[in-house]
Amino acid sequence: MKTIGLIGGMTWHSTADYYRFINEGVQKRLGGNASARLVLWSMEFAEIEAFQETDNWERMTALMVDAARRIEAAGAECVIICANTMHRTAEAVVAAVKTPLLHIADATAAEIRRQGLKTVGLLGTRYTMEMDFYRKRLEKKHGLVVLIPEPDERRTVHGIIYHELAHGVIKDESRKAYLEIMDKLAGRGAEGIILGCTEIPLLVKQPDTPLPLLDTTALHAQAAVDFALSD
Ligand code: GLU
Repeated sequence: MKTIGLIGGMTWHSTADYYRFINEGVQKRLGGNASARLVLWSMEFAEIEAFQETDNWERMTALMVDAARRIEAAGAECVIICANTMHRTAEAVVAAVKTPLLHIADATAAEIRRQGLKTVGLLGTRYTMEMDFYRKRLEKKHGLVVLIPEPDERRTVHGIIYHELAHGVIKDESRKAYLEIMDKLAGRGAEGIILGCTEIPLLVKQPDTPLPLLDTTALHAQAAVDFALSD
C-alpha cells in the first residue's frame, strides 16, 4: 500500500471526514483491520483565511509548498490538498515536489463524466466560484460547462461556509438557502451540482435533493484510496 499525504486543516471539520473516508475505503477494499497508511500536515486555518481576505496568494502558495515538502519528507507518495479553494496553489505545489498531486477537480470531473453529465452548477467559496483555477480546469481539461450562482447568491454561499460550516455550525435555514440556489442553477440548465467546498457536504446531502450532487470530499478521498491501492 502506498502512503497518502494529506494537507488538511482547511478546515479541520472536512479533514476529519477525509481521514474517515480514506480509512473506510481502505478497510472496505482490503477487509479485516486494514487501514490507510498516511501522513497529515494540518494548517492553521485562521492564518490561511487572513491571507485569503487580503488576496495574498504568494504567502499561501509558500505555506502550501512548505506543507507539501514536509509530507513528502515524511514519506508521502502523493499529495492531497484537502480543500477546493487552496487548489489555486496547485501548480506551484506540483512544481515543488516529486510526488504526484491528485487534483480534486480531476477526481470530481471523472465522476461527472461517469454519470454522463455535461452541464454542472458549482458551489464553493467565492475564490472557487469566481477565479479561473477551478472552473477553467473543468471546462478546458474535462469539456464540462460550469454554471455559478448570481452575485448575491455567491455571497450567501461563501458567507455560510466561513461563518457557519467552518465553525461546525449546521443550520436548517442555510440548507434551505443552498437548496434554493441549486434549484435556480438547475433552472439555468445544471444537470448536477458540484459541492465544491469540502465543508458543504456537512450541510447538504444527496437525500435533500433529486439533483445529482458531486461531493468533492468523498470523491477526492476515494481517489486517494485508489492511488494508495494501485500497483
Ligand atoms: N474547505 C474549503 C474548500 O474546499 C474552504 C476553506 C478554504 O478556503 O480552504 O474550498
